[in-house]
This record gives sequence, structure tokens and C-alpha cells, in this order.
Amino acid sequence: MTGSIGMAGEALSERAAELAANLAEVRERVAAAEAAAGRAAGSVQLVVVTKTFPADDVRLLAGCGATDVGESREPESGEKARACADLPLRWHQVGQVQTNKAAAVASWADVVHSVDRARLVTALERGHRRALERGERPAGHLLDVLLQIDLDDDDTRDPGRGGARPGEVAELAEVVAAAEGLRLAGVMAVAPAGVDPRGPFERLAQVAARLRADHPEATVISAGMSGDLEAAVAAGATHVRVGRAVLGARPAIV
Ligand SMILES: *Cc1c(COP(=O)(O)O)cnc(C)c1O
Repeated sequence: MTGSIGMAGEALSERAAELAANLAEVRERVAAAEAAAGRAAGSVQLVVVTKTFPADDVRLLAGCGATDVGESREPESGEKARACADLPLRWHQVGQVQTNKAAAVASWADVVHSVDRARLVTALERGHRRALERGERPAGHLLDVLLQIDLDDDDTRDPGRGGARPGEVAELAEVVAAAEGLRLAGVMAVAPAGVDPRGPFERLAQVAARLRADHPEATVISAGMSGDLEAAVAAGATHVRVGRAVLGARPAIV
């Protein structure tokens, strides 16, 4: 090796090659899933989930053409978004949001996937208004909101994962629709652990169809991760959230 790149530069270009290869592989999986489902090429948006990985990785991914990145935890998420503010990226909050972190999330997120209660809507509305007042968000910025749906049967239910029950969706949707600065964009879910995800993703598609009957603009279905994106695309997902398959194993479960 020539010394001109230096150790740091060499490690960075190795990581760049790894991320580019992984990203290409995931894009192929998404394209194959679109084709298998008879859906148009490019109809599914890839959100690369970068939680626990450094801002340098986000920068490299943007260089590979990634347009949408997902984060999970404050303060890591906000710090990373601010460090990458010069990049043309759309920022997604994919993990659960504690009500007392809502204002922090509203200062950087473009899309929040995990809204499952009215109190969180109110806190996001207030935080987003403040972010506009402070100039942390450009004038006219709208925060897209997805309603997270709990797809578990009662016996596989994991309250830690969050999500509104399907019967709570209509009322929660009205709360979001009435909130200033927030835009009801659709639904999101995480498939229950240890079961075939096809049934749950079909149920999510039904919840999404019912929501669209009242709110035609709520077209997003965010479903599918590294392990189950094919099943999600088959069931109509418009957005998949992929972490490990692009970035590698995370140091801890987040
Ligand atoms: C971490 C996370 C993902 C990405 O999961 P992978 O298995 O790494 O692809 C997707 N959605 C949510 C809500 C997450 O927290």
C-alpha cells in the first residue's frame, strides 16, 4: 500500500467498499421482491437504519446514493443528524419515542415511524413548533407521522415494542390529522418475533387500507427489516427499514 492514503483513509475506503457492496445486495433483494410481487421497480423506498453506527458511515452511505436513513435513540440520533446536516438525506425516527424525548426528535426528524399514542402526538406537535421557531427546521417543514401498529396476538404480545392496537387507529389518526405541522403519512409495524411474518404483514395492509379510506394521503406502509423484507414487500410495504444487512451486526440490541 502507498502511504498517501494513510491508515485512517485506508480503513475508511475499506468500509466504503463494504457498505457499497452490502447496499447493492439489499437493493437487489428489494428489486427481486418487487418483481416477485408484480410491483413496479423502484416502488419500495429503502430506509437504511444506521443506529449505533457512526456519522462517518452515514456519510459513506450518502456517497453510495442512500437517500433515507433511520435512527432510534437520543441523543445519538440527533447528534448524528446534526453532524450530517450538509447531506441531502431524509431522516427517519424508527424506534420507540419516550414522550420526554419527543421535542428532541422533532428537532431533526423528517418522519417519525413509531407514533402510538395521543400524548406523543401532542408532544411532537409542540416540539416541532418550537424547532420551527428556533430555526432548527426550515420554514414550512412538515413532520411526517406513521402510526405504529401492534400486530401481536394477545399471547405473543410484547408491550415493550409499542404500537397501537388496530382498533385504536381511527381515533389516533384524527389526533394526528388535527395537529399543526404534522402530516399523517401512513402506518408502520415490526413483525412479532418467532412467527411467520406474512400473516402479520397482511393484517398491517388491511389496517392501512382502512386508514386510507378516511385519510387518502396516508399511503405509507413501513414494514420489513433485514430478515423479513421480502414478506413485507409481498404484502405491500412501501418502505423497508434495513440495518444489519447493510451495516453489519450491531454491538448490542437496540
Ligand atoms: C433496528 C430497527 C430496524 C432495522 O433492523 P435490522 O434487523 O437491523 O434490519 C428496523 N426497524 C426498527 C423499528 C428498528 O428498531
